[in-house]
Amino acid sequence: MTIALSHAEIVRLLGLTDPAAIEELRRSAYDLTTETVGNAVHYRGIVELSNRCALDCYYCGIRRSNREVERYGLDRDEVIEAALFCAEAGYGSCVLQAGERRDEAFIAFVEECVAEIRARSLSERLPQGLGITLSLGEQSLETYRRWRDAGAHRYLLRIETSNPALFATLHPPAQHFETRVRAVDDLRTAGFQVGTGVMIGLPGQTLDDLAADIAFYGQRDIDMIGMGPYLHSQGGSMPASAMMAREPLLALGLKMIAVTRLALPTLNIAATTALQALVEDGRERGITYGANVTMPNVTPRGVRRNYQLYDGKPCLDEGSLECRGCLERRVIASGRRVGWDEWGDSPHARRRLPITVTAK
Ligand code: SF4
Repeated sequence: MTIALSHAEIVRLLGLTDPAAIEELRRSAYDLTTETVGNAVHYRGIVELSNRCALDCYYCGIRRSNREVERYGLDRDEVIEAALFCAEAGYGSCVLQAGERRDEAFIAFVEECVAEIRARSLSERLPQGLGITLSLGEQSLETYRRWRDAGAHRYLLRIETSNPALFATLHPPAQHFETRVRAVDDLRTAGFQVGTGVMIGLPGQTLDDLAADIAFYGQRDIDMIGMGPYLHSQGGSMPASAMMAREPLLALGLKMIAVTRLALPTLNIAATTALQALVEDGRERGITYGANVTMPNVTPRGVRRNYQLYDGKPCLDEGSLECRGCLERRVIASGRRVGWDEWGDSPHARRRLPITVTAK
């Protein structure tokens, strides 16, 4: 995919500090979003189906070696109920997210949930059923194929950074950058629309690194982006002092959204919850900087507190219906409308990949 900006221009834009210049960047990105992906913001209701994870990423609050967190796994009925809430609420799509597990019991559980959600969400409003995105980490190509065949059609696998040396500072030696990239490529082979993303403001990260991240999105022909500020987690092993100050971190996160939009205009870009952890209206701001997707949490409230990848995660106590109303107000305040009952695939993905998913 051709990137519309040079590396030097991306670095310059990410480094802007003059408020008028930043406002010009924001306005350009917002207007281009209207032109290329439209005026709608699409919802993906997140179901955090389990916080059990076999991996140990240093920055993460639910990593394997954090003994302080209470582990949970939703049962099949709870997952289906949360997903069907999305269909009934008009969200159009859900995301099934969990810590990383590669055992057969987990793979089969996800496969069954996906097939059942697609079949049971068919309706006049959703003639293809609910759109299903998975965010379940690195898996084998065979597993990706099983989940794709079951009816999921998008997959989010973040690379966290495109700089292999920086990646190595965030993960134990057993987790390799090359393996992560291969898994991203396998998702394409399996027929998924592919999403990835990075953390912004990592200790040791430069603007050149972030510009290279945007280049990575283009080189890998990525369809959707879920990136957000690096936030400290008490359950992780990285020092709190490694996190950037909140204000410049928010500014950098927003500039990254705007510049990614200008560089790769037809992608879906999420206004992630991590932005709202920094400032109450963080998601609205993300939308005004060029994001067009947001992810309300539909995980049952009883376990939501136990799925915190970083500290200060918002919306832990709101019920799913409260979230629906609150988020709609936020979207409208950003000058957009909600794309109710739409899958909202990115124009980039629609051009390349006719949707051939059928509910089983
Ligand atoms: S970031 Fe994901 S894979 Fe890494 S420890 Fe956390 S839940 Fe597990």
